[in-house]
Amino acid sequence: MPVWINGRWAAVAAAAIVAGVSPAAAVSAHAAAPPGTTPDCRVVKCVALTFDDGPTLYTAQLLGDLEARHAVATFFLIGPHALAYRQDVLREVRDGDAIGDHTVHHPNLTTLSPARVSYEMNTAARQIASVTGRRPAMLRPPFGAWNGRVRALAGKAGLAVVLWNVDPQDWKYHNTALIERSVLNHVRPGAIVVMHD
Ligand SMILES: [Zn+2]
Repeated sequence: MPVWINGRWAAVAAAAIVAGVSPAAAVSAHAAAPPGTTPDCRVVKCVALTFDDGPTLYTAQLLGDLEARHAVATFFLIGPHALAYRQDVLREVRDGDAIGDHTVHHPNLTTLSPARVSYEMNTAARQIASVTGRRPAMLRPPFGAWNGRVRALAGKAGLAVVLWNVDPQDWKYHNTALIERSVLNHVRPGAIVVMHD
């Protein structure tokens, strides 16, 4: 997948941070930064872990795993899921995770009318804000499907489009070892990894 970030790479990387290339690297990356601050990705090898489609049944466990490693991630939430799993969303906020918009119904936005695209983005943004108190500033279009119109409408909604460049296809391969290997084989400093709660 190409990665396109609306000229906001630096902001996204800073917000999306940080787990190292391996759990050990993540811990040392965190250790390199003063407590309560974000590691400096010019110094340590950062990658952004992003998780789509949540929260779900599994989010609490995932958050526990991230917390245990002092890692933060970016979560692209389905609006109604945010309403259904408020506690998990609030825990993400408390943990310092970044939160983005992943629409209401998870459609391919390139197939919808402009009004429908705006509805999907803005309704999810409102639902997320009703839980977090803050409107998200990033959109991950479902399936990574975007075009000029989607990008323009996202910009109008105050959302930077964030894709990815490492995709272990965890939705397809429910095999931890395979997913881990795939991520570790492709990840490099500055990478954005897409996975799912
Ligand atoms: Zn998705």
